[in-house]
Formats: sequence, structure tokens, C-alpha cells
Amino acid sequence: MGFRQRERKRERKRQERKREAASGSAQRQSRRSGSSAEKWWLTPLRSKQCCARCALVIREGGDAVYRHTPREVLCVPCAEQREDSKGYRPSMRWEAARAGAPRRQPPGLTAPGDRLTP
Ligand SMILES: [Zn+2]
Repeated sequence: MGFRQRERKRERKRQERKREAASGSAQRQSRRSGSSAEKWWLTPLRSKQCCARCALVIREGGDAVYRHTPREVLCVPCAEQREDSKGYRPSMRWEAARAGAPRRQPPGLTAPGDRLTP
């Protein structure tokens, strides 16, 4: 590996670390101050919940709009209709799940020809 290549790699790592530190501290900051507790967030559910407005059951891992204080879970169509929850934002967890989604395809979606025969 040449010097320039190594230098580029080192620079990329530096940028990555900086980005991680920044997002981590912003998250810590907002948790400490509680400023994000009363906001609505689009997030994948950790457990099965039902919408507080239409009682639609949202399965575990499905998208829901969530507010921590006072605790409330809405389905996405309801959240878009309500004035207070309309301005919801995607959570970090939701963005991470979406970014990772194409790589975590269920086995059923691969073409039959892709499978290696033993
Ligand atoms: Zn609903």
C-alpha cells in the first residue's frame, strides 16, 4: 500500500470518527435536556403497539410515530393528519434501519438461480 493511499484511508477514518462523535454528543445532549422527549419521532417499534387514534395494530419492527412525553404511539397516516404530530422527524434508529435494509433482504427474495447447490 502506497503512502498516498494510506494517507487517504487515515483521513477517511478521521472524518468517520468526527461524525460519530458529533451525532453521539447531540443525542446525549438532547437526552439530558429532555428537549426531544416531547417531539414526535418516526421510529421502528421494538414491540407490538396499537395506534392511539385508530387502534391499528403496528407490528414489531413496523414504522410508527412516537412521542415519549406524554407517551403516545400513532400510525403514520394518523400522525400526518394530526396537527401536533405532523412535524415528526425520522429517528436515528429509523434512519439506521432504513440504511441497513437493502443488505438485510429476507432469503425468500433472492432469485432461485442465486443459490449454490451443495
Ligand atoms: Zn392510526
